Amino acid sequence: MKSPSQFLFKQKHVVLKLLIFILFNCSINKSNICCNHNFASPSSLIIQTSKQLKLEGHLSFEKLNLVAKDFGNRCHFLPLAILYPKSVSDISSLIKYISEIGNIPVAARGHGHSLEGQAQAYQGLVINMESLQTPEMAFKTTELPYVDVSAGELWINILHESLKLGLAPKSWTDYLRLTVGGTLSYAGISGQAFKHGPQINNVYQLEVVTGKGEVITCSEEQNADLFHGVLGGLGQFGIITRARIALETAPKKVKWIRVLYSDFATFSNDQESLISSQDTFDYIEGSVIINKTGLLNNWRSTFNPKDTLLASNFSSEGKVLFCLEVAKYFNPENKDSTDQNIDILLSKLNYIRPTLFLSEVSYVEFLDRVHVSEVKLQEKGLWDVAHPWLNLLIPKSRILYFAQEVFGKILTDSINGPILIYPVNKSKWIKGTSLVTPEEDVFYLISFLSSAMPSSTGKDGLENLLDQNKRILNFCRKARIGMKQYLANHKTQEEWKDHFGPQWETFARRKSIYDPLAILAPGQRIFRRAPACEQQ
Ligand code: FAD
Repeated sequence: MKSPSQFLFKQKHVVLKLLIFILFNCSINKSNICCNHNFASPSSLIIQTSKQLKLEGHLSFEKLNLVAKDFGNRCHFLPLAILYPKSVSDISSLIKYISEIGNIPVAARGHGHSLEGQAQAYQGLVINMESLQTPEMAFKTTELPYVDVSAGELWINILHESLKLGLAPKSWTDYLRLTVGGTLSYAGISGQAFKHGPQINNVYQLEVVTGKGEVITCSEEQNADLFHGVLGGLGQFGIITRARIALETAPKKVKWIRVLYSDFATFSNDQESLISSQDTFDYIEGSVIINKTGLLNNWRSTFNPKDTLLASNFSSEGKVLFCLEVAKYFNPENKDSTDQNIDILLSKLNYIRPTLFLSEVSYVEFLDRVHVSEVKLQEKGLWDVAHPWLNLLIPKSRILYFAQEVFGKILTDSINGPILIYPVNKSKWIKGTSLVTPEEDVFYLISFLSSAMPSSTGKDGLENLLDQNKRILNFCRKARIGMKQYLANHKTQEEWKDHFGPQWETFARRKSIYDPLAILAPGQRIFRRAPACEQQ
């Protein structure tokens, strides 16, 4: 079996042969489009392709800057063209053509919420997955309900449509303006993952266009190797065009609760006991708050204190605090029993009593909560800034040491964005996917979700935030924390090999089978080099 680097070498020969072939043809057929040039550039190949393939959608060579950006706002790689597909066959025939004739990288773009150019294709082709909207969402309301959706669909749209039938997906991300294909290529982890696993755990079937242009349906029972490979597969083995998502009966309302701790061990003990109990909340997350002024006052826009007087005497200034955030789903007819159940659950926890804040919201308001912040930040022009995010998975056995050394020592101040921290239990997650996690069953997701202030050279400036990330990573390395990065942005294949560890062999094997020319998802920098992103 050939290694990906052997394939890349072979690829260059294919392109060379192709160019010779085209030049030869040009000299025979003067009407051929490529004859206007001295040589066939990749863009002329793409133009030629679009004419031959009779696409239902279209290729565009304009407004390329639309796909040369992402949420991270630090990478801007111009492609040669954008495909706006209208059918799966648009994607498969174009990829088949490209994989037969040349070395043109192809990136599927979901909603472009990557952090460092992962959905971009420098001098390649970007496929705008959101324009693939057929066939429409199809629901099955049997005993095990599910919905078939196009992979370019946003989770928020799936929520709205499924609620019309009283159903909803089981596992979410914190933010819902992300596509199905984009989050399934990572994992999709949020406060429901301790119970249902990440989003990749809640998929029954996928339709995938491989790097060879084949359209393959896969599931646990059918083409399982591809199914497992694609889930958490960083877009390396194929483009997901359709997904069958597991649904459950949706609740109407949510009790949403926040409490504070000043001691990390007490906080994490409570989190761990909640994720391992049978009788527990439906959503469990947490965050770290460093030196925040007026924290509880800010909460009052959404939450109400259980005890107003005690809450108003509590100060968060100058402290490192840990916030447990939990939610219980219910329907109005069960409100009383839900309240009683919540009281019992809360009575077992060891939070600072005056800091108990509660809220009652609709299920949609709860799930779409980050959008409220998005709108506010957009109004202030602070949504489209650089986001040097760092997401780590830390094994349970090392979390106390990590917290002790990072919170208050490496991080002495707010990072201008939330720091999320919560444990998940891997034992319920499906095995064999491409997702890499620490070895222990229980590990913590810690997300440093900073926003860099444009032109700032201070604490909230990009350079300082990147430096802080580096110091955290260096600490993990030196202390052998056994950490894995989530949404990782490693720069070299060596770093990726280290990331995958024993899973690398399987990952590379799958690449050589499903995308032997390594054309897919070049922005992940696993099998192809991509230019470096700018710092500012
Ligand atoms: P893109 O950024 O467009 O693509 C991501 C990668 O997947 C690229 O490599 C791309 O080529 C590939 N890809 C895209 N579509 C397909 C497809 N159909 N088939 C194959 N490959 C494809 N993640 C979590 O797990 N939990 C969270 O709670 C969470 N919250 C977030 C909140 C915000 C505000 C943001 C911006 C991101 C959050 N994320 C979270 C991260 C999110 O999962 C990733 O950023 C993901 O990349 C976003 O999906 P997208 O649709 O924008 O994908």
